[in-house]
Formats: sequence, structure tokens, C-alpha cells
Amino acid sequence: MHEELGRVVSTHAAQVVEGAFRENGSSGGMGSWLAVEFLRAGLADAVVHVGAITGAQAGETLFEYAISRSERDVLSRSKSRYYPITLTQVLAEVRTTEGRYVFVGIPCVLKALRLVAMKDEVIRSRIALCIGLVCGHLKTRRFAELLAWQMGVPPQELLAFDFRHKLPGAQANQYGVAATQAPAAGGSTQSVISPVRELFGYDWGLGFFKPKPCDFCDDVVAELADVTIGDAWLPQYVKDSKGTNVVIVRNPVVRTLVERAAVEGRLALDALSAADVVKSQASGFSHRREGLAYRLWMTRKRGEWAPRKRVEPAAFEHDRSFRRKHELRAAVARESHRAFAEARDAGQLRIFFKRMTPLVEQYRDLNRTLARRVAARLRRWFHAASGK
Ligand SMILES: Cc1cc2nc3c(=O)[nH]c(=O)nc-3n(C[C@H](O)[C@H](O)[C@H](O)COP(=O)(O)OP(=O)(O)OC[C@H]3O[C@@H](n4cnc5c(N)ncnc54)[C@H](O)[C@@H]3O)c2cc1C
Repeated sequence: MHEELGRVVSTHAAQVVEGAFRENGSSGGMGSWLAVEFLRAGLADAVVHVGAITGAQAGETLFEYAISRSERDVLSRSKSRYYPITLTQVLAEVRTTEGRYVFVGIPCVLKALRLVAMKDEVIRSRIALCIGLVCGHLKTRRFAELLAWQMGVPPQELLAFDFRHKLPGAQANQYGVAATQAPAAGGSTQSVISPVRELFGYDWGLGFFKPKPCDFCDDVVAELADVTIGDAWLPQYVKDSKGTNVVIVRNPVVRTLVERAAVEGRLALDALSAADVVKSQASGFSHRREGLAYRLWMTRKRGEWAPRKRVEPAAFEHDRSFRRKHELRAAVARESHRAFAEARDAGQLRIFFKRMTPLVEQYRDLNRTLARRVAARLRRWFHAASGK
């Protein structure tokens, strides 16, 4: 048992070579490939994962859990959705429709599934394998709406959103996003693409639109999955815009499939040490180990209930900057929900910028020298004075 990664059979960096998995995927394409390979190997009959809602109306819910039964259907639901989802409806279908299912999910969803399976014999017998996604945190649907709005697509006109649009020539972690706008009467749909780094709120460290439970989670790498995949944003892989996965194999059956496919030239598979996998998720681990310990301490100090986690509450009394960083992250998450609701109601995006910029700047100041802090303030003052 690895302290950070949980149960481990082998760890790798991987890219899918065959088919369009990598091209269509968020990263190296392993998410969809593994699901398809489990179907091909007869280990499962169907895949439970997240895709766009067919016929979604502009401004309404865009993504949901769905069941794919063919390779084509699995591929059509590739890519990450940083969007709230629930297993509730799809689990009802799994209960009534015999078969063996592959479940794809973020850590909390797979934990919920395993808990249901402990009590529910039918569900337990229908889980063939679980593919876990490494998770920084989930987002509310306002994340997609904020990014799209900055690209000229207001929330009520947002018809589709691609959270991971690969930009040829850019580093894998400097991907784009694409927003599709509902057509005006008689017109056709329009899609706008932007590098995500040019948009306010993209920085995952800040935690815009993070649901509160994520701040009490201590599972970064879906420890209850049979195999977990994430982004290999390590120096040796990040330059390749087409994307590379980190893979944590936890089940020997999966290891056999993956290694056989590598020998057959269908996967490009490198051995990657567990330490490198941890390094690829360094900020996630620090937020959910030391950061979590401090959040538990803060919560209990306020006299509020906090769950028991694998780390004990800790005050970090002598590290003011660390404490401030985590206080600001919590404040950003909290304020982002309120500020966006206000901006949306008023139909004015600038309300959101105005409410959030001071907090973001305080956060950025933590890593700025005094000279840079002064320069940043002057820049902001100049922008405000010139009305830009
Ligand atoms: C909320 C969230 C946070 C993440 N945070 C991190 C992180 O901090 N670090 C990191 O390395 N990776 C993170 N990932 C994983 C990363 O975005 C990629 O999903 C992963 O690298 C797989 O890429 P791929 O090309 O192999 O998958 P693809 O071939 O694109 O397949 C992705 C599969 O995941 C399914 N899927 C997409 N979104 C969801 C969802 N919300 N719930 C369940 N299934 C879904 C799709 O239906 C598809 O089957 C996160 C993913 C999510 C959804």
C-alpha cells in the first residue's frame, strides 16, 4: 500500500497509439481506451460515464452520466467534464438492466458507488471494473458559464462546452476551451475557442466554484478504482500538446491488458515511478494533506462540525503565509458562488470581476516581492483610472 497512491500494482505514463482515442481525449486518451478495452475483452457489457446531454437546451444542464454500449458511443463521450454530475438516475437503470458495467468516476463518486455496493447486492454484482479520474476538485456549472461568458457567450445562450480543447503546438497544460452558442433565429450554432490561461478564474489553485465538500476530501487519486488516470504534467511529457496520462494500475487484470496492448504497439507505455506520479499531482496532495489539516483546524475552531479524515487538524501557527493561502482559497471558493449569482441576475459580468479581483490579487501577492506588489497595484489603479 503506497501512502499517497493507495493500492498499486504498477504505475505508468501512457499515450494511446491506436484509433482516435488520444485525439478525442482530454489527455493521452486512456480513459476511453480502457473502457473500450474492457468491452473488447468481454470483461464488461457497458460503460457508465459522463457525456453531453443530447438535445440540451441553451442555459440548461449540459452534461450527465450515461450508459455506452458500443465503442462508438464510448468515444463520443470522451473528455473531462468539470461539471456537477450524479449517478442517481443511471444507477436506477443499472439496477433494472442486467449486465456487467464499467464505471468511470472521480474519487467521491466511486467511493459513493462502493458504499452503495456494500449494501446493495444487485449493484455489487453489476460492477465489473472502476476507472478513476485523478481529481483536483469538482466545479459547479458556473465554471463553464464564467469561461464562456468571457468568450462572448452569456450563460443563457450556452449550448455546449469543451473543457479540454487541444491547441497544437502549446504545452499540454496550456489547452484551450470551446464554447458553443445557441443560434439566433434562422442562424447556425457558433463555437468560440480560447486558451484557458487567458480567462479569469481558470487557475485551479484558486478554487473558483469549488463545492464545499471538496475542501474536506482526502482522496486525490481515486483510491477505490481498479485503475486511475490523470494528466502527466511532468517536464518530460508536458511539451506534447496531444497529451499524456499518468496511470495507476491497482488490479492485476488491468495490468495484463495494458502491457499486452503495449507489446502490440497499441499503447505507448513508459514505466513511471510512484514518486513521479505523486509529483505530477503535487499541488493536489499538498491541498488535501497539509491544507486539509489546516481547514479541519479552522472549522473546529469556529465551533463547526468537521468530518474525521486521515490527517489530524493542525494550526500551522508559525507559517503565516501558508495559513493565509488556505484562508484565501476558502474565501475565493465561497465568494465565487455568490458573486456569480449576482452577476448573472444583473446580466453584468463585470460585477463578478469587481467582487473577485481583490481576493485574487491578495492571493497573488503571497508570491510577489514587495516591488511586484507595488507594480501590480499601480497597474490596477491605472486600469481603473483609464476605465479599461
Ligand atoms: C472534476 C475533474 C477534476 C480533475 N482533476 C484532475 C487533476 O487535478 N489532475 C489530473 O491529473 N487530472 C484531473 N482530472 C482528470 C483529467 O481531466 C482527465 O480526465 C484524465 O487525464 C483522463 O484523460 P483521458 O484523455 O485519458 O480521458 P478521455 O479519453 O478523455 O476519457 C475521459 C473519460 O472520463 C469520463 N468523464 C469525464 N468527466 C467525467 C466526470 N466528471 N465524471 C465521471 N466521468 C467523467 C468521460 O465520459 C470519459 O469516459 C480531473 C477530471 C475531472 C472530471
